[in-house]
Amino acid sequence: MKPLTSYNTLLLDMDGVLYRGHERLEGADRLIAFCRTHGIQTACITNNATMTPQQFAEKLAGMHIEFPAEHIINSPVAAQRWMKARSPHGTKVFAIGMNGLRTALFADGYFVEDDVAPAYVVVGLDTEVTYAKLRKACLLIRAGATFIGTNPDVSLPMPEGLVPGAGSLLAFLKAATDVEPFIIGKPGPTMFHIATEILQSDPTKTLTIGDRIDTDVAGALAAGMTAGMVLTGVVTRADVDASPIKPDALYADLPELLEAWQRDMQKK
Ligand SMILES: [Mg+2]
Repeated sequence: MKPLTSYNTLLLDMDGVLYRGHERLEGADRLIAFCRTHGIQTACITNNATMTPQQFAEKLAGMHIEFPAEHIINSPVAAQRWMKARSPHGTKVFAIGMNGLRTALFADGYFVEDDVAPAYVVVGLDTEVTYAKLRKACLLIRAGATFIGTNPDVSLPMPEGLVPGAGSLLAFLKAATDVEPFIIGKPGPTMFHIATEILQSDPTKTLTIGDRIDTDVAGALAAGMTAGMVLTGVVTRADVDASPIKPDALYADLPELLEAWQRDMQKK
């Protein structure tokens, strides 16, 4: 890998990188401060479609990490931006999802909510999903609406075990319609591209840090960016060794990344 000083942009996954559940991970606050001091642009990118960027910013602030909501890009924010680039003001959209998705799609008034003849059906995790909502989405997709999925995660880890995620709803609708959704989140490259578009930064000078091989690393590599990884999430060093997909750089945790970056700076 190139020296860390060749990167001027950092894209960070959140859960497993900056925090785990409600607990800040070691070095998260120092890394953000380091980037600020050295003019390294940062954005957080997450598949999590259940909260708004404002809510994520508040969660980080609660852990003493000051981070601007405009630079927190989750899959619904990326979905709205992707759709905006392809459709005029007033385009109709049917959505299945929670607050994070609904706010991202409709709060600025660009898209209009519609369940009769929408151009798009957008589906994210909805913990209050019903047969009626899925039935409606199925009929609209069959009638020709473009089927968009926020993120493909089929399951989510909860204290009780794995529970259905957005990907399970997408699988349901895929089975019912025979239509493959276009997926915005990781491991696709779209959300990564949108993040560098928002930061106006060069993807070849962008380092990404995630905690999962199948989403964070795979997505970064698909987007042509450098894929860094930390072992503070669910993946172990043995998992990395066994995986056919390899990160460009592997760090035990954020303090180790920070140290490496500082070392590269001193060499300059
Ligand atoms: Mg993660």
